[in-house]
Amino acid sequence: MADLDELYREIILDHYRNPRRRGTLHGPHVHAEGVNPSCGDEFALDLRIEDGVVTDVAIQGQGCSISQASGSMMAEAILGKEVPAVEDLMAKFRLMMGIDEGDSPIDPNRPGSVLGDLEALQGVRRFPVRIKCADLPWTTLADALAKAEAGT
Ligand code: ZN
Repeated sequence: MADLDELYREIILDHYRNPRRRGTLHGPHVHAEGVNPSCGDEFALDLRIEDGVVTDVAIQGQGCSISQASGSMMAEAILGKEVPAVEDLMAKFRLMMGIDEGDSPIDPNRPGSVLGDLEALQGVRRFPVRIKCADLPWTTLADALAKAEAGT
């Protein structure tokens, strides 16, 4: 598994150094922010939902490589998806990370087949103190979805 660990490390660093969809949105959108005090990570998200589909997303933030890479991967993964599919992705991510109890949805024989680049973060579950870093963008996303739902 050493090669896979190395690949995962490279994917995380690539997203950290070249975050996808970084910026802000103009026009109608919801905005949510989160912090992870235990590590000092900050993350913010602009989300546009039209007819139940995530039609645009932009991220801001600073912090450790795990938190920022997780946000970059998440932004890519949710774009163009319907809200229930985004919630499904969130549920699978939380199972993979051991945040929610249950079997991991990841297929060890087909790396990347379920959650794409996000699967590179699965090794983080071995380091409980860092799980909050990986989860920060997702709790922020949940907040943004709640705001969108409430129409605020
Ligand atoms: Zn962190």
